[in-house]
Amino acid sequence: MGDLLRVMAAVGSCIAAFAALVVTIRVWRTSRLTARLEVVRGLHAELVSDSAAQDRHTLGSLHWQNREINPDGAERGEVMCAYFAMLWRFERLHAGRKVLLEEANGRRDVALKMLDEQVYTHVAEYVCTFRVIKEKLTESNRDDTVFDGAYVKTFEQLCISLAYNFDDPEKKARLGAHANNTEKCNCTCHEVAAKPPLPAQRPIGASA
Ligand SMILES: [Zn+2]
Ligand SMILES: [Zn+2]
Repeated sequence: MGDLLRVMAAVGSCIAAFAALVVTIRVWRTSRLTARLEVVRGLHAELVSDSAAQDRHTLGSLHWQNREINPDGAERGEVMCAYFAMLWRFERLHAGRKVLLEEANGRRDVALKMLDEQVYTHVAEYVCTFRVIKEKLTESNRDDTVFDGAYVKTFEQLCISLAYNFDDPEKKARLGAHANNTEKCNCTCHEVAAKPPLPAQRPIGASA
């Protein structure tokens, strides 16, 4: 009888220890996912911040209207600032996304799937925007080269990585547009007639 009690006590201890382990793992997984979702929230928030919205307006107006940049006045400088600010936002997104991927050993967990769904439209929109704005910046002043090589490369890597994770062929095509001369870009800006630049706006405080 005594032996049976000792065995039952030992079995009970094992069950209690196992249950505690299961609870600990569950708590750890939940807090880890919460932390990852917080990172996702921060990465997405950067793309929809007030300053990002302002930069999107600056670049989007030129892009969608197919309007040239006035080389005189303040516009070219403002467009240049918005262009690089957006490239740097996507650089931070790519870095944060890479960390989330590596932490999960390349597996797309709930956090990664949520991030990719949230940022897809933003990234796809800028595939054409960056290309068109770069051309307009270059054409408006060929003496002032746009040194964006490393940042553009990072954006391309982000597009490739995102496209890899989507099964939808339309999404893959949008992310791959302008990658080289064979991919077709379906952005409607390419059907809009080119417009001349707006009259030059002088920087605040500058004399005419
Ligand atoms: Zn395009
Ligand atoms: Zn376009």
